[in-house]
Amino acid sequence: MEEVHNYQIIAKRLCNRCKKPLDDNDHGNRKAHPDCAKNYKKQHQKEKYQIGNTAKLMIQKNEAVAARLYEMDKQKTGIPFTYAMEQGFRFDCPTFTRKHLNKTVNMFDHYGYVLETIKGEILIFIYYESELFSID
Ligand SMILES: [Zn+2]
Repeated sequence: MEEVHNYQIIAKRLCNRCKKPLDDNDHGNRKAHPDCAKNYKKQHQKEKYQIGNTAKLMIQKNEAVAARLYEMDKQKTGIPFTYAMEQGFRFDCPTFTRKHLNKTVNMFDHYGYVLETIKGEILIFIYYESELFSID
């Protein structure tokens, strides 16, 4: 019993980065060694940058796939979303939205898409930025 209790007290005083004890004279609300906190911040900024690059690559890839799909479906009859995925299309790619008539288009860069369920099938429609117009 006593040991568990002690452990909990000690655990509260561990650096949340390196998991080593904080100095006894560190003030109570400190959660990490100053150096650990500094390194964490650096690491975090690096990760943010890497996430940014990953997102950029994903956007570039989706742009390329979207361009191909766009050429395939000039009539805008829709392409099964499963086919788009087979072509390497990623639906978890970051997008921004543009309004097009009553639709919301998820844009990558110059290309974007709308998903619609037609007769029980989920279809993807690819749009190029120059064909979008907003009526608001
Ligand atoms: Zn530490």
